[in-house]
Amino acid sequence: MYGTFAQHVQGQLDEIAEAGLTKRERAIVGPQSTEVMADGARVLNFCANNYLGLADDPRLLAAAHAALDEWGYGLASVRFICGTQELHLELERRVSTFLGTDATILFSSCFDANGGVFEALFSAEDAIISDALNHASLIDGIRLCKARRLRYANRDMADLEAQLVAAADARFRIIVTDGVFSMDGYFAPLDEICDLAEAHDALVLVDDSHAVGFVGEHGRGTPERFGVADRVDLYTGTFGKALGGASGGYVSGRAEIVELLRQRARPYLFSNTIAPPIVAGTLAALDIVEGAGSERAHLKDNAALFRRLMTEAGFELLEGEHPIVPVMFGDARVTAEIAAHMQSHGVYVTAFSFPVVPRGAARIRVQLSAVHTPGEIAACVDAFVAARAAVQPAA
Ligand SMILES: *Cc1c(COP(=O)(O)O)cnc(C)c1O
Repeated sequence: MYGTFAQHVQGQLDEIAEAGLTKRERAIVGPQSTEVMADGARVLNFCANNYLGLADDPRLLAAAHAALDEWGYGLASVRFICGTQELHLELERRVSTFLGTDATILFSSCFDANGGVFEALFSAEDAIISDALNHASLIDGIRLCKARRLRYANRDMADLEAQLVAAADARFRIIVTDGVFSMDGYFAPLDEICDLAEAHDALVLVDDSHAVGFVGEHGRGTPERFGVADRVDLYTGTFGKALGGASGGYVSGRAEIVELLRQRARPYLFSNTIAPPIVAGTLAALDIVEGAGSERAHLKDNAALFRRLMTEAGFELLEGEHPIVPVMFGDARVTAEIAAHMQSHGVYVTAFSFPVVPRGAARIRVQLSAVHTPGEIAACVDAFVAARAAVQPAA
């Protein structure tokens, strides 16, 4: 039996390779940082979600070490059997305080949070109205739920309104959006979305994974930036990006919703609790984020500096202010060659092309961190200039 199945699998791998879509992983030796050893070479890292530079921050490491000694390595249990420590309850309270919500429930990842939230709360009489560019975990979570599914074009408020009208007969309607769209660095217009939700009697869920910890005056995310923190019904997010970069996710919102998720959300009920060192590291990350906030200011300055230098050097960027900065090249082959040239000259960036982004809109997505130095940012720009000269000599 296995022989034909092996051929079937190999055939798919060959198709992926022929389409030029094989993902190759470079092994990093040492911790995640702005400078890493990858495949034996030292490279400046401009493609991690390490927005606040906390992934190897000594304060998080110290908290995680201490928690390892005090609380142990792992719980060998899901939460409701014997996997809840005081530490987990403390992190849930801290996330609620930080976001200004009633209650929070932890998951092993934001993928799991999004995988569990819809099925537990909605059923066939309801409608879920989702932005077309939402994260894969939202798409999958929505598919696991029996509610009617409607989609609106990315950030298109006229289309959202049309879908709300189309779902007017549903028992409940919920609008679902990423706070920040990861391929473009664009914000969801949450003020307009909340207005439409109110006008059409819908709930709002925001997955703020690419914003929590650094967007908004206090780093509380996209809802804070748009002044709608108290109008968003449900927040989901990750601890695996700005908030330390390890793992874990959450759903946060009203108390009764969170309580129902504790009873019903399958990835919560049937998957292990977050390991104690990670819980403690995330608490330390929240301490930093709620503290002086210099990391947030550095991140903002770094994104602005990179955008300015790249614009002066004649590159086309998608406009914005998020530390995700897409450098647009259009052609997939040119984009891949530029990224490869930069990597072999010490700057680690990643090219994205169809089907991850629209055809003809290939790009290198640069991600700034608070701990990049101005010198490192200038080196990244220089690497872009050199790669452009090597790959596109006519330009
Ligand atoms: C990264 C990301 C996730 C997945 O987070 P994990 O905690 O790594 O599972 C979910 N949603 C969005 C919008 C993301 O950007």
